[in-house]
Amino acid sequence: MRTITKRIGLCAGLVASALIIGCQSAPQACCTVPETGATAASSVQTKESQAAMTPQAALVELKAGNARFVAGKPLHRDFPAQVRATASGQYPFAVVLSCLDSRQPIEIVLDQGIGDIFSARVAGNVLDDDILGSMEFACKASGAKLIAVVGHSNCGAVKGAVDDVDLGNLTGLLAKIKPAMDAVPAGIQPRNSKNSAFVDQVSEANVRLVMKEIRERSPILSQMLDQGQIALVGGMYDLATGKVQFYDK
Ligand SMILES: [Zn+2]
Repeated sequence: MRTITKRIGLCAGLVASALIIGCQSAPQACCTVPETGATAASSVQTKESQAAMTPQAALVELKAGNARFVAGKPLHRDFPAQVRATASGQYPFAVVLSCLDSRQPIEIVLDQGIGDIFSARVAGNVLDDDILGSMEFACKASGAKLIAVVGHSNCGAVKGAVDDVDLGNLTGLLAKIKPAMDAVPAGIQPRNSKNSAFVDQVSEANVRLVMKEIRERSPILSQMLDQGQIALVGGMYDLATGKVQFYDK
């Protein structure tokens, strides 16, 4: 099998490095959309590309991937070739927690291929011990450099939470979202699913709450964050535009 490198991932690293040191001569080809995509068709993350990726570069790549998706210019990928290339190992650069919603297929909207990111999806992108354990596996055991929590607009799970829906096992899941309502100013009325602004503000608050919980409930991840080995970022996906707004400022 020929040597395979992750061109875009490495480019993201170069761009991030350039941004950090203020270099004005970042490679022009980085993170632009190739006309044919032929060079990236079968490339996958390798142990070397993952090791070279910084947490900042990982975020740059997620942003670049979403920009490609929004522009309708995703990288051309040879998925069968990527399957073969990743069969013996995986070196994803990020772990993303996002909602179950069918309109937010996270690898697609972030334009990532096979082996690029760990993906945890659950209604309302809520946190529990199993998701937290999965993140610890992704970062501590498998070398991922970034944890992203991505909620979305018009979230059905959040609507269910604010409307106090009671339905089997869903009730317990929605209870995890309800504390986020308290973070939305009391002046925002009405506080139910008919108010889309309220629903979206609860979704944003939920993302921030989950980020806070990740730090508080995982000494392993908290230490990695403190030491700069990984980064944690939140974001919101807009169902109407396909754009992910990351909260990294
Ligand atoms: Zn949702």
